[in-house]
Amino acid sequence: MKLRPLGATGLNVAPIGLGAAQLGSSEYEHSGKIVFRALDLGVNYFDTARGYWDSEIKLGKALKGERENVIVSSKTTGKTKSEAAQHIDESLERLQTDYIDNYHLHALSDLDDVDVRLGGPLEALIEAKEAGKIRHIGITGHTFPSVLVAALNRFDFETLLVPLNIVEREPLAELIPLAIKKNVGITIMKPVATGLLPAPLALKWLMNQQIAVAVPGATTVSEMEQNVGIGNLADFTLSADEDAEVAKWALNLATDRCRICMECLPCPSDIGIPGTLGTDVMYNHYRSMGPAKFAVFPWELSRVEGEWQEREATIAKIDDHAACDSCMQCESRCPYNLPIVSMLRSMSPNMKDMLDIWSKESSKV
Ligand code: SF4
Ligand code: SF4
Repeated sequence: MKLRPLGATGLNVAPIGLGAAQLGSSEYEHSGKIVFRALDLGVNYFDTARGYWDSEIKLGKALKGERENVIVSSKTTGKTKSEAAQHIDESLERLQTDYIDNYHLHALSDLDDVDVRLGGPLEALIEAKEAGKIRHIGITGHTFPSVLVAALNRFDFETLLVPLNIVEREPLAELIPLAIKKNVGITIMKPVATGLLPAPLALKWLMNQQIAVAVPGATTVSEMEQNVGIGNLADFTLSADEDAEVAKWALNLATDRCRICMECLPCPSDIGIPGTLGTDVMYNHYRSMGPAKFAVFPWELSRVEGEWQEREATIAKIDDHAACDSCMQCESRCPYNLPIVSMLRSMSPNMKDMLDIWSKESSKV
């Protein structure tokens, strides 16, 4: 893959990286092979976070011996200086390294959060950089791009991690141009809209944007190979047919893709709507793989077990149709006009099937 500069960091990145959240879904024997194949294929940017289950641990184990050849990114959701400082030390330990190339303030949610996180937590990152524990400081966010615009206007962050794909183009209006103007390294999450978009088309479209690196996840070695295959293309120009496909997907998913903006909350039934519709990694695996492949996937069973009760509780809340029928507050608040209640109800049988499959697998669970 032809390397691109990561803003003004002095680092050069292959345009297809690996988003490590999905490493938390499978046993190390499986997830480690994905990292090894990524290395073989020239991937040099690995994006993880404390919040991505045990992915820091698995990534640290798989990258041993390759540390100086790769760029590792992680994140803290800490709200105070001491919490963020502790998170950096924990990330270093879990990643088995004495420096992290790129450390982010993770998931800035609104302008109040910008005030909080650019206070003590940012001070902790600046001190960690001075101490050589981290080398560059970045921000991430899923909500409205204006939140990250405000953050970029207050501090010279070196990198940015933001969702961008065929459906979610809002960052192209103001955020990405500002980042380009400030020479911030632009890294992209959700490039295939958590599996809703066909990866080859979505990544090829993205390679045409002024970004440094996209970090799609991969649940198999062949997915990793497919993603890098797009990064290796000599020409990213879309054909007329591909342009038409892009337009079709943008239209079809416009009211079917949760942007994780949080505007629908609070829910009186305490359903975590954005986490269910937008970021339920295990559900996305089920949807992408289908039940047959899902049943034979080498799940990280400790994680399955950890999520079990919460998933059962979510199903019960979704299935309480009377509660939603008399409420509908979320749909009136959603700026993207998503049919939230019917989307949740369509997930419920699949979530039950996931639990059934895992039960059968698990004498194990
Ligand atoms: S309609 Fe249902 S999901 Fe939406 S806010 Fe009300 S209780 Fe929550
Ligand atoms: S359901 Fe709508 S309001 Fe809620 S997080 Fe998703 S896009 Fe935002």
